Amino acid sequence: MDFLPLFFDLKNKEVLVVGGGEVALRKATLLAKAQGKITVVSHEIRNDLNDLVESSGGKCIQGDYDSSVLKDKLLVIAATDDLALNKKISEDAKSIGLPVNVVDQPSLCTFIFPAIVDRSPIVAAISSGGSSPVLARLLRAKLETILPATYGQLASLAEKYREKVKARFTHINDRRGFWEKILQGPVAELMFAGKPVEAEETLQTELKDDNVLPKVRGEVYLVGAGPGDPDLLTFKALRLMQQADVVLYDRLVSEPILDMCRRDADRIYVGKARSDHAVPQGEINQLLVKLAKEGRRVLRLKGGDPFIFGRGGEEIEELAESGVSFQVVPGITAAAGCSSYSGIPLTHRDYAQSVRFVTGHLKNNTADLPWSELIHPHQTIVFYMGLMGLPLICENLQIHGMSPSTPIALVQKGTTPEQKVLISTLKDMPEEVKKSQIAAPTLIIVGDVVRLHHKLNWFNPEANQ
Ligand code: SAH
Repeated sequence: MDFLPLFFDLKNKEVLVVGGGEVALRKATLLAKAQGKITVVSHEIRNDLNDLVESSGGKCIQGDYDSSVLKDKLLVIAATDDLALNKKISEDAKSIGLPVNVVDQPSLCTFIFPAIVDRSPIVAAISSGGSSPVLARLLRAKLETILPATYGQLASLAEKYREKVKARFTHINDRRGFWEKILQGPVAELMFAGKPVEAEETLQTELKDDNVLPKVRGEVYLVGAGPGDPDLLTFKALRLMQQADVVLYDRLVSEPILDMCRRDADRIYVGKARSDHAVPQGEINQLLVKLAKEGRRVLRLKGGDPFIFGRGGEEIEELAESGVSFQVVPGITAAAGCSSYSGIPLTHRDYAQSVRFVTGHLKNNTADLPWSELIHPHQTIVFYMGLMGLPLICENLQIHGMSPSTPIALVQKGTTPEQKVLISTLKDMPEEVKKSQIAAPTLIIVGDVVRLHHKLNWFNPEANQ
């Protein structure tokens, strides 16, 4: 982060704008909205700026800027078209530790203005750190459309009842539950529909209702987080991620996805490195039951799809036996994600009419897979967890009749910025992998469809080896 977003209390505080033109007016308007007392220094001052300054309780000084005017100010904005003067103001302010903004000259600023969505008291500020103000403005336009204009009124209503709610619900979880209900239910809807009086009456009724709090019922959401790209989450996954109280996540769940979970949710890492179980499966199952029985909404977040090599079945079996309610949300499995993002369709009328998903995690280094069953003409084979066993996989496929020249692809960290695709043949792949710096997680795709990669590859092609 290049700049820390803070919200400045300017109410009745002295602030300074140097400059008297349109840019100065724009900045002064913002300062006036925040109720600052504005001093403007300039040779010429527009009439509308003059009026604004007067109504803010500040004053206009017609004449030259002098550093003495910085005294007792909370912040200063240089909005003149004289570059040397702007620089001097910046230096003067910095020398006495006064926050300074020089319009359109980021290198002279100690603070910058964000793009603002004002639904006071709700205010959203968006910044690109000066890198692209246009992008920040476009994002603001998006936010404008999703934040109803009455959002501010809803916040003001909440503020009005804050203390009463605090007195009624002494436990923070109860208060949170109450507010979640009010701010997402009929009270919010009435406010958005332009009926503030009815909204307030409904809130009062809810406050008196003995049964207002939803019965806390623990539940487990077993959610597939997809192969890595956060854009591949489902709407349902995102919704549950944002309401869960506690998150149990895997090694495969990418950082950007974890960041999208509710910010104040507890996070518990239960991931497993290959053959190094961080938390034994049985303990994870029991932890899920325990947390849900405490009344918590538990998010069990898994890479890919929970029911494809994800042990999701084992986890919810225990829940079902313990009478804990649960939901399962499918995710995009690695095979689907890697296939799309590497331009290797798993089926294709010319090359493959079926596809097999197989685990390549070979127990005790033995190759106990039904090899001859896998080898069918016109069938694609996808190996999950196959990097360690790759030489054995290539060897056995050939022993059981596949041509050494059969194409094979290795997709590293598919759908992420670190995706790499390695293409070779069954005969040569083990050597190619040794030479490369491929790292887990990787997915192996075997079959003629791999030939399509060169033609259909569209994602991050410069990273390919
Ligand atoms: N439930 C998961 C699979 C878990 S098994 C799913 O549906 O995708 C773990 C294996 O999945 C890894 O060893 C690797 O083979 C594969 N995998 C998961 N994410 C991957 C990714 N982004 N790129 C390549 N392979 C991945």
